[in-house]
Amino acid sequence: MTSPAPELNLSDYANRLPGSPVREILHVSQQPGMISFAGGLPDAAVMPEMPVLDNLAAISQYGTSDGESSLIKELVKWLGEEGLPCSEEQVIITSGSQQGLDLAARILVDAGSDVLVEDPTYLAMLQVLRGLGANLVPFTLDEQGVDLAGLESLLQTRKPRMIYLIPTFQNPTGYSYSEQERRAVAELIDRYDVTLVEDDPYRVLNYDNAFTRPVSSYLTSAKWLYMGSFSKMLWPGLRTGFVIAHPELYPWILRAKQATDLHSNRLGQAIIGQFLKEGRLPDHVAKLKAHYQKKRDYMQKLLQQYLPDSVRWQLPAGGMFFWLTLEQDTRSVLQDGIEAGVVALPGTPFAVEKSADNTLRLSFSQMTPEDMEEGVKRLAGVLAR
Ligand code: PMP
Repeated sequence: MTSPAPELNLSDYANRLPGSPVREILHVSQQPGMISFAGGLPDAAVMPEMPVLDNLAAISQYGTSDGESSLIKELVKWLGEEGLPCSEEQVIITSGSQQGLDLAARILVDAGSDVLVEDPTYLAMLQVLRGLGANLVPFTLDEQGVDLAGLESLLQTRKPRMIYLIPTFQNPTGYSYSEQERRAVAELIDRYDVTLVEDDPYRVLNYDNAFTRPVSSYLTSAKWLYMGSFSKMLWPGLRTGFVIAHPELYPWILRAKQATDLHSNRLGQAIIGQFLKEGRLPDHVAKLKAHYQKKRDYMQKLLQQYLPDSVRWQLPAGGMFFWLTLEQDTRSVLQDGIEAGVVALPGTPFAVEKSADNTLRLSFSQMTPEDMEEGVKRLAGVLAR
């Protein structure tokens, strides 16, 4: 993490912007022999072959800010089949859903604005919000779910500019809102008229038939922005995600997109558009689910086998993460683990107010069964020290 550097004469934004411990340890994770549970990286072993584009000249010119119309058309068709109806006029293709989050925050939040967030929540959104100088107003999300009463009392006393939710297979906790929770949260958002930013990159990685209908779809009056991503489904390196916007917010997100980078890279959009057009996505998603479910189940078995009984967690119904709660401080586990050849991420940086100093986030998405077993054994050794 960096600290303010007044001598450089930087903006308030730069001075407020924290570094990302997760991205900083990616380099450590790549050292030979290191077994990493740290990054939520999709498994390259299940990335499909990329379609070959026959007319690259067609994408060599500048494109439109909303994105490739061929991709948007295919995306809207697929979302409709998935039970997420929207129109082409609501979609903006972004450079990963991370850019969607940044654009959403920039059109909604000023320095000092109240922003409601789950506690703990996605680190890189905390980075975005802290850079903007938002006043983070956390409500608890734990194995019991959302603290609805706590959320309501915050809504009664504050006038937040936005509420940020990851209702499905949350990063870092793996928690997924029940149907009832989705309805209840949507009802509160409507009643108190807060704009919802819903972040949903893991929805298709659903191993146990969890209920995944977006909270946005229940809203009747509040405005919303829904963020989706191809990163966990296809190729994160193509940096292609999308925002589906409430019609009144659409022009503002589009303007922010124009000002940021004119439009996303056309090559990535065209490759994904072609993949969808070939009708390959549904079979591929089925394959992904089977692949990651096997890994999740094996991880569960290993954690049960090697970790002490005092460590608690819930089996995640989807996504890429186990969230462990321990009876010890976990903040030194990163450094101690690296010395022992295993990278496990303490939950501390995901926390807003409620301490997560006794938690670990473990990703199971990427490794072979052999590495997974060896990694869990090494982690158990580190915890026993
Ligand atoms: N939101 C959440 C909750 C995430 O976990 C991630 C990726 N780690 C993102 C957004 C950003 O994903 P991308 O920009 O690759 O679409």
